[in-house]
Amino acid sequence: MGSLWHGFADMGAVTDNGSFVITRGEGVRVYDDAGNEYLDATAGLWFTNVGHGRQEIADAVAAQLGTLAHYSNFGDYSNDTLIALAERVAAMAPVPGSKVMFTSGGSDSVDSAVKLARRYWTEQGRPEKRIVVSRSKAYHGMHIGGTALSGLPPNREGYGPDFVPDTQRIEWDDAKALLGLIERVGAENIAAFIAEPIIGAGGVYLPPEGYLSEVRDICRDHDVLFIADEVVTGYGRIGHGHWFASGRFDLAPDMITSAKGLTSGYLPMGAMIAAPHIAEPFFAGGVWWRHGYTYGGHAGSAAAAMANFDIIEREGLLDEATRLEGDLQAAFSPLADLDAVAEVRTGLGAVTAVQLADPADAPAAVLRLRKAGVATRAAGAGALQVSPALVMTTDEVNELAVRFTEALS
Ligand code: PLP
Repeated sequence: MGSLWHGFADMGAVTDNGSFVITRGEGVRVYDDAGNEYLDATAGLWFTNVGHGRQEIADAVAAQLGTLAHYSNFGDYSNDTLIALAERVAAMAPVPGSKVMFTSGGSDSVDSAVKLARRYWTEQGRPEKRIVVSRSKAYHGMHIGGTALSGLPPNREGYGPDFVPDTQRIEWDDAKALLGLIERVGAENIAAFIAEPIIGAGGVYLPPEGYLSEVRDICRDHDVLFIADEVVTGYGRIGHGHWFASGRFDLAPDMITSAKGLTSGYLPMGAMIAAPHIAEPFFAGGVWWRHGYTYGGHAGSAAAAMANFDIIEREGLLDEATRLEGDLQAAFSPLADLDAVAEVRTGLGAVTAVQLADPADAPAAVLRLRKAGVATRAAGAGALQVSPALVMTTDEVNELAVRFTEALS
């Protein structure tokens, strides 16, 4: 019996059946330990925006580690690669003049934003603004903060009462529910509302037309901070020339949480981006925010992010995401006619879900897909995830849809 404890797994089943061992990745393909090839439908866990096997990123990281692996970003310490990266991320941010704090991943970014929301209101003399509102189907990582904000009941169960008591949830697609909650609980008690522009791990649910700007306006009208969790949608996946969904939908969030596509997963890194009015009290002098992570702003990860951005810009991958939005919709929409499929959610950014009619079929479907040469997984309740690297060609998308059709017919 092996010693490795997988995340999100029935370890009894993994022990009985063995691990699925990926040994190599190249472009939009990965290979297992028997040499079988798979189209990577999910870009790992939504992160490999530039595809696998980019020697250029490996070289940039090696050069950085050989010069300075990491030191510290606490107090006045920093590193030159990180300073350059912060300028680059700030320039991508939808709100000019934003400040960027780097973290070790998405869950760190969410914790940072939620803590900053409450810390910000304390600075404003309104410490009673404590409640953070999230949505059904939401996934905000698995730290204690993200667990308390989760809109996926199985991810919250088994721990007793909420770790973080000051949270509230509303239905994911009903802007009026936010207004109702604010009226019931009182804006004077609410610090922030957090939402994924496109719900990812909860099963790929696209926002109803007008929903995002409506909740944004409600937040603004009631002095509730708006946190856009762009861990999945950030750094190009949403297309149309925008680095963030917040840019595409003109949301001007108070904070953005991000990770994944920041380095395309070559090394762990996240970023919490704060609009200038949120950062201002902490930059004015005399105020400390006693928060940070040892590996937040790791120099090696920063080098990976810089090389990753070079590739995204050079290869025009923001435009490729726009193409993929159309390609995925064209290739996958017909799968809705299969008996095994309830619906296909597609047509916004480089993400799609093939929703199984019976979510209980998901484990078997994932194995059939694997036999057909597709690496994917079920998100939410039986939603097969399709979120390829932004370098997947139209032909490869069509081939992916053929393999899905074969496996699900
Ligand atoms: N927020 C969202 C929207 C995510 O999809 C994820 C991970 O999938 C996270 C936060 C947590 O990120 P991480 O797993 O890097 O901690």
